[in-house]
Amino acid sequence: MIIDLISDTVTRPTKGMLDAMMTAKVGDDVFKMDPTVNALQEKAAAMFGMEDALFFPSGTMANQTAIKLHTQPGDKLICDKYAHVYNYEGGGAAFNSGVTCKLIDGNRGMFTAEQLQEAVIGRADIHVPYSRLVCVENTTNKGGGACWDFSELEKLKKISKENNLAFHLDGARLFNALVAKNETPKQYGELFDTISICLSKGLGAPIGSILLGSKQHIAKALRIRKLLGGAMRQVGFLASAGIYALDNHIERLAEDHQKAKEIGAVLATAAYVTKLEPIETNIVIFYVDEKIGADTFIKKMKDKNILLTPMGEGRIRIVTHLDYTDIMHKILLKELKSF
Ligand SMILES: *Cc1c(COP(=O)(O)O)cnc(C)c1O
Repeated sequence: MIIDLISDTVTRPTKGMLDAMMTAKVGDDVFKMDPTVNALQEKAAAMFGMEDALFFPSGTMANQTAIKLHTQPGDKLICDKYAHVYNYEGGGAAFNSGVTCKLIDGNRGMFTAEQLQEAVIGRADIHVPYSRLVCVENTTNKGGGACWDFSELEKLKKISKENNLAFHLDGARLFNALVAKNETPKQYGELFDTISICLSKGLGAPIGSILLGSKQHIAKALRIRKLLGGAMRQVGFLASAGIYALDNHIERLAEDHQKAKEIGAVLATAAYVTKLEPIETNIVIFYVDEKIGADTFIKKMKDKNILLTPMGEGRIRIVTHLDYTDIMHKILLKELKSF
């Protein structure tokens, strides 16, 4: 048995999800004639109280499309130094949109309204790139699954509005935040111009993301998605997995969070752990003693069929998910205790 804790993207579709996929009604989505894709998009838009939604093959493409539709080449987007849009999308902001990123030195992937206010200064000066877009990530990936304080997001929205900046949420793991903080999709729908959500992370679908926004924004997004090669044909087979995930796999994220906390409780008392980040959702980030080293620790766990990820600078990441069972959890806790 392999205990794969590398990411919440490693899950396989459940039996129920596979059945839904196999029996999906499909059509050519490029002609908007796939009923299952249309149903998923309508469902997501209704959940968030937003006008429209568009299915994407990946979260990266959904985020990159959002950046493209909000900016012109030479503009600047503002995000945290840990942001996925900056660190993990292959430099796509520059490649696809010709924009530069202003990085805020935040805390665990989150920044304050004061920091944003500082970052937007200089807007009217022809020498500086125009600030056009603010990107926020919730939960933060590199920040260890941290959740924003909603009141801080409201302050960011106010500053964005005052400065005529678009406000985009990279919500790849937004449902983890909603469950952990007891918030609703509609709260977020009211706040942001565009939101991307991943169906293929904690929600357990094999493929797929959604971009939400106004009718106007999504009409633009449709064109950009085509341009990026992301318009697909009978993709209802995947969209049905997304519908199944939204119907069945949101509340259960609390189980992943509970397991992550229990892993954290063991690590907190382990002699070899030098630092443990706070655990709010399904991501655990910790540092091991330099005498052992992250690479050796990961290798020794791999020898026991337990897979973990290095996150640089001695950080190790564990991500709990749908396919991480109670039995696996027991084994992992035992191995972490006895290491
Ligand atoms: C996974 C992830 C994405 C999208 O990744 P894809 O692999 O392209 O689907 C975007 N943002 C964050 C924060 C993520 O964790």
